[in-house]
Amino acid sequence: MEILNEELQRYAEQHTSDENDVLKKINRDTHANVLMPRMLSGHLQGRVLSMISHMIQPQCILEIGTYTGYSALCLAEGIKQGGRLITIDINEELEEKVRGVFASRQNTIDYKIGNALDIIPTLKETFDLVFIDADKSNYNKYFDLVIDKVRPGGFILADNVLWSGKVLNKNPDADTRSIIAFNKKIHDDSRVENVLLPIRDGIMMIRKLSL
Ligand code: SAH
Ligand code: CA
Repeated sequence: MEILNEELQRYAEQHTSDENDVLKKINRDTHANVLMPRMLSGHLQGRVLSMISHMIQPQCILEIGTYTGYSALCLAEGIKQGGRLITIDINEELEEKVRGVFASRQNTIDYKIGNALDIIPTLKETFDLVFIDADKSNYNKYFDLVIDKVRPGGFILADNVLWSGKVLNKNPDADTRSIIAFNKKIHDDSRVENVLLPIRDGIMMIRKLSL
C-alpha cells in the first residue's frame, strides 16, 4: 500500500530536487542486481533525509541498516565540515559493492559490518542524528541502545513505521507487532517528542528533550 497514489507520488518527485548522478547509479544498480531493491530509500525519501540532515547540520550521525549505501550518502550531505557518519550492516555479501560506493568518502563515512546489536554498545560517540532502518524486530532494542548516545536536543529517525499500512491489521504478524510496539513505546516515552511523518512507508521523527 502506498500512502499517495502513483500520480501524486510522481508529481511530488517531479517537484523535488533531482538525485545526483551517484545516487541515480546506486538506485539503478540496486534495482538491477540486488535482492529486495524496495528497501532502498529512493528519490523522494532520499531528498527528505538530505533536507533533514542539512537542517540539523550534524557533527556525528549513526545509521543502522546500510543496505547499498543510498540513505547513508543522502544523510551525509548535511554533515558539518569534519563530521562523520557511522553506518552498520550485517550483510557481508554487499560489503564489496558498498565499499566501492563509499570509496571517495572514507574520511566521512565509517562503514562497519556486523550485527548492530553488538556494535552499537562499543561506540563511544555522541550522535546528533540516528537513522534506524535495519530489522524491524529489533527497533525497540535499537532505540534503547542509542538513546543515551544521542545528545540532548538530538534526533532519531526510524523508517517504515507504517509498514505498508499493516500497523492497522487486526491480526498482525511478528514484524508488524514489533513496529506497533515501537510506535507505542516512542509515543509513551517522556524523554522524547515525536511526529509520525506519513512519508513513503512512514518515518518516526524523534527529538530527545534537553532535560
Ligand atoms: N537504509 C537503507 C536500507 C536499509 S535495508 C536505505 O534506505 O537505502 C535494511 C538493512 O538492514 C539490510 O541491508 C540488512 O542487511 C540490515 N540489517 C538487518 N538486520 C541487521 C542487524 N541486526 N544489524 C545490522 N544490520 C542489519
Ligand atoms: Ca527503510
